[in-house]
Order: sequence, then structure tokens, then C-alpha cells
Amino acid sequence: MGSQKFFIETFGCQMNVNDSEKAAGLLQARGLTASETPESADVIFVNTCAVRERAAEKLYHAVGRYRALKKEKPELRIAVGGCVAQLQGAEIIDRAPAIDVLVGTHNLNRLPELLDLNRETGERQSSIDTKADAFTIPAESVAHSSRVRAYVTIVEGCNHVCSFCVVPRTRGREVCRSPHDILSEIRGLLDRGYHEVMLLGQTVNAYQYGDVDFPALLRLIHDADERLWRLRFTTSHPAHVDERFARCFSDLPRLAPYLHLPVQSGADRILSDMRRGYTGAEYLKKLVLLRAHRPDIALTADVIVGYPGETEADFEATVRLVEDARYDGLFVFLYSPRPGTTAVRLADDVPELEKKRRFKVLNELQQRFQRERNQKMLGQTEKVLIEEVLEGEAKGRTAHFRLVHIPLDERDRVQVGDLVAVSVAAAYPNSLRATLPPR
Ligand code: SAM
Repeated sequence: MGSQKFFIETFGCQMNVNDSEKAAGLLQARGLTASETPESADVIFVNTCAVRERAAEKLYHAVGRYRALKKEKPELRIAVGGCVAQLQGAEIIDRAPAIDVLVGTHNLNRLPELLDLNRETGERQSSIDTKADAFTIPAESVAHSSRVRAYVTIVEGCNHVCSFCVVPRTRGREVCRSPHDILSEIRGLLDRGYHEVMLLGQTVNAYQYGDVDFPALLRLIHDADERLWRLRFTTSHPAHVDERFARCFSDLPRLAPYLHLPVQSGADRILSDMRRGYTGAEYLKKLVLLRAHRPDIALTADVIVGYPGETEADFEATVRLVEDARYDGLFVFLYSPRPGTTAVRLADDVPELEKKRRFKVLNELQQRFQRERNQKMLGQTEKVLIEEVLEGEAKGRTAHFRLVHIPLDERDRVQVGDLVAVSVAAAYPNSLRATLPPR
């Protein structure tokens, strides 16, 4: 497949981004090079997300666009992977004849081989076996998309049974990577100049390998190498937030003071229907525990509005929880029924307009909190790890994962990967503007 080009379109979470980085690495190992645009590609890989209905529909829109390119260029190959491929394998093949290759979430390593087979035989190829080993792709062949933050997947799948969530169906049950493999991947990344690592898993803090649990793994990684400036992880489940977990935030100085901890609802009745395993009060106690260990920790969450049967009183309970939690960020989703989940059997009875109203109420409330909180940062000094340098501006994140824009003039020598101390000059709900110290 030498001298050919590939283009990857990724939908969904960081795990999908990391899978796309693996796909890019596998294709590069076969001699293909990355293309900036789908028009100049010989292979297009669409990496899909099935978490919400709209996310799944994006696959068909994307394939529709690429089918038009195939008319001009019949040798173009279209491959589809990710959660929709896993969930709707045969259906996708029927619905979108332009697709040549389909790979499930555990079969990404077979992408190059299936593309070869498709070329040789002219037959469409598919591999969607969740029993296959999800960790077969060697760490050194991952083509990381960021030069600053490297994703390292440590848990695949999820053993929770949240009623709304399709992930256990698309990614199977939890499988954890060995601490040895994780540490050796991280050492390799530090050798290549990375200083920030984000550990990934659908329920990352459920990690357990032999007697190494998640807090033990964090300590191992943290203490292994001082070149690691910032250690992050996502996504965590409240069930695995306890004293040992919280203590990591006070004991490990290079563990970034940031935690994304989805709550989903503030109403106990809805939380119980969702099978989340906690009440609103129990969840809030976990935030108190985390703040006791790390008072400045930045906390963010996901909330679903319009879950089946969610009444106005249930929604008000969510509003109260969001008021109490004082999150640094909130991701609000409109409930959408997903195939194979238990909630799909319930009537999706909150009208779309009402879901949108609830979405807006929560977002406006949260934006107000963020504006107020960011205003308090005016004049503070923050350390920003630079991720992008454009003309006249650099962008990066603080340890608390706050996005910072830094205006530059032509004499400023700021580079991607630098850790710079800046002074916060302006505050917005979703970002800060900060200036470099005077020369
Ligand atoms: N595994 C993680 C967890 O349970 O915390 C999060 C994974 S999911 C990719 C990200 C978010 O999408 C969830 O936290 C939830 O708020 C939202 N989500 C999942 N299923 C949904 C559904 N059927 N409808 C609307 N939002 C959904």
C-alpha cells in the first residue's frame, strides 16, 4: 500500500481519539501517509461513536459524503470502526454499500490486513469480535495527535450496568492492561519528550490488575519518573471514589488537580432507575472528601436531562445538586434511547422541547458559576503548558485543565511544550486570557 494516503474522521470521546491514533500508527507502519483532506486520500477511516443517537447518525452522513468521492475515485477504500461498527455491524453493511471494511472496537489491529484482503478479493471485509484482545497494538506504533498530551488507554470496556449507556455493549466487559505495559508505554512517551499523560478508560478508576488497584497504579506512575509533569485520567465513576483514591490528590503533587466525575442526575429516584449506585447526597459527600484532600481541585461532571419519567421535581433536584457541587465545568446531554440498553424499553416521554429547556437552564446556571469563579482568578499567576502556537497567540492549559489564551508579540519565544508562568488578565466562562511576564 506504499505511497498511498489516509484520512481519519473521529467522533466521540478521548478513547476514540486514542483508537484513531492507533489506526494512524498502523497505517503509517504500512507506508501510508496522513492526508489533510478526504479528497486526497486513498483510504478513509471513520471512527464512530454510539453513545447518543445523533452521534451514531453522523456515521451515515460521513459515509454519504465519502461515497460521492468514491464516484470520482473508485479505488478509494472506506473503512469504519468504533462503537457504531461494533453495535450495528451487519446493519451498517446493508445500509451503506460504500463501506469496504468494518472493524469492531477490539479488532482495530486488523485494519491494514482487512484493507489488503478487500483489495485482493474485491469483497467487503468485517471483523467485530469483542472476545479479541483489545491491547494488541504495540505502544510504539501509536501516532499521537498531540505533541504535548499523550493518551494511554489502561482499561477497555465497562462492568457497570447504567440503564442508559451503550458502552458495555460496544466495548465489552472491563479488561485492564498490566502495570508493566502501562509504565513502559509512559517511559517511551517521556523519552519522546512528552510531559503530560492522560490515562483513559470508560471507567478508568475501576482499574484492577492483580493486587494493583487504581490508587496504587497512580502512585507507581507518579513515582516512576520525574519527567512526568502532569498526570491526568478520565473518565471516573463515583463508585470507585473513596479515601484511598482521594488521598492521591493530596499525596501526589504531579497528579493534576482535576477530576471529571459524571453524576447524571440529582434525583435519587432517577439515579436508582439509572442504576448508578449512589444517591445525590452520597455523590456530594464524595466531592467533599475530594476537596478535603485537595481544596482547589477542579471538578467537572456529565448530566443527562429528560431521562424517561424525569419530572419537573426530579429536574429541580438536579439543579440543586449542580448549585451545591460548584463544578468547574458541566457537560449536559439530552437523553436519547440507545439499542440494547435497559432504558430503551421505557417510554422516551420527556418532550424534546422540554429536554432542550432543561439543557438551557443547567447550562446558563453553570456558565454563571464559571464566570464568577474565573473572575476570581484575575491577577493570579498560573502555569500553562503550551499546546498550540498560532500567529500572535499561544494556547494551553493550566494544571486544573483551564484553557488559557496568551497574546504574543514577535519577540516572544514561546514554543509548544513549554511550561510558562502567566498572569491572568481577563476571565470568560470557558477560558482565560493571560499575559507573559514583562521582558
Ligand atoms: N463511562 C463514563 C461514565 O459512565 O461516567 C462516560 C461515558 S459517556 C461516553 C459520556 C457521557 O455521555 C455520559 O457520562 C452520559 O452523561 C452521556 N450519555 C451516555 N449515554 C447517554 C444517552 N443514552 N443519552 C444521553 N446521554 C448519554
